[in-house]
Amino acid sequence: MAQDKIILTGDRPTGRLHIGHYVGSLKRRVELQNEGDFKKMFVFIADAQALTDNIDNPEKVRQNVIEVALDYLAAGLNPDKITIFIQSQIPELCELSFYFMDLVTVSRLQRNPTVKTEIGMRGFESSIPVGFFTYPVSQAADICAFKATTVPAGEDQKPMIEQATEIARRFNHIYGETLIEPNILLPQNEVCCRLPGIDGKAKMSKSLGNCIYLAETAKEVKQKVMSMYTDPLHIHVEDPGHLEGNTVFTYLDAFCKPDHFAAYWPDYQNLDEVKEHYQQGGLGDMKVKKFLNNILQEELEPIRIRRAEFEKDIPAVYDMLKKGCEEAREVAAQTLDEVRRAMKINYFDDAALISEQARRFATK
Ligand code: ATP
Ligand code: MG
Repeated sequence: MAQDKIILTGDRPTGRLHIGHYVGSLKRRVELQNEGDFKKMFVFIADAQALTDNIDNPEKVRQNVIEVALDYLAAGLNPDKITIFIQSQIPELCELSFYFMDLVTVSRLQRNPTVKTEIGMRGFESSIPVGFFTYPVSQAADICAFKATTVPAGEDQKPMIEQATEIARRFNHIYGETLIEPNILLPQNEVCCRLPGIDGKAKMSKSLGNCIYLAETAKEVKQKVMSMYTDPLHIHVEDPGHLEGNTVFTYLDAFCKPDHFAAYWPDYQNLDEVKEHYQQGGLGDMKVKKFLNNILQEELEPIRIRRAEFEKDIPAVYDMLKKGCEEAREVAAQTLDEVRRAMKINYFDDAALISEQARRFATK
């Protein structure tokens, strides 16, 4: 048992969760949870972070908190085994972010490639909210407040975890060993690190509207798969097809398992055979899309069924979140005690400080 392992991840409640989240992080979290090889595991809904670029739309964030919570439960996260909480309910995280701000330079934040891409995506070039610009710092606080060792996430989070590691290291260097340097846990399967959207352009992202959501109906999923971007040069069935940038094949790389062939496409033994045939020419996109649709439906159906069950009792989901917030707050408060002590801002519980100063002033 890795009894020192503390796992932590979060998602922004800017929309329901999609299959990019699922292969990039959520599925792995459920596996880690069920393996049980950890001391503690936290999963949180990053509503305060979502507000940094949705400040004029609090209703969107509020409505999506429950959507993300339902997606968690539907995907198999279990509040009896792990702690699920809402970021804004843990004020210690703001406090820690405030101290962390002094450990990072503006130019360091400007160099963060994910922030650069996201600023472009949101059209923020000329007017970046300070909170958005500094979100890697608050994310470092989220991670460090729980002393997370392991952060299962997609590739876009790599610069964030590096930033958190630097902050923890700098803090420890200045104030003494207090915080833990985290490690990112990327998906084992390369294509799952950054699943593209159904338009085949950028990564699948809630903010870009190019997603297949976990909670979508079978019909909606099928429609999206059938409209997916493939190879623009593959016009007639007999034309040779290309795999490069072909989103249908990228999704097959992410989701296809050997036993899918016997179940849904016995003409082939494995994905390599399908790819070879497609590249030679003579295999139509529709057949490949149908196969992908079958695979996605098999993966998503149990999630859909579980979600429908949890949707029947929304107050119970809020009770679960409230309990999770209380548990999380205790842990963060403990870390903040240690942080304040290390930073020498724990005036009232530092009896040695008070008596030393009392002596010094008495002998003046
Ligand atoms: P937003 O557009 O609001 O930033 P998002 O779709 O990027 O939303 P996040 O909440 O930022 O989702 O990301 C949550 C987690 O899911 C992170 O660990 C992130 O790395 C992972 N993730 C998000 N999109 C993908 C993707 N397309 N492929 C793989 N992992 C992803
Ligand atoms: Mg994101």
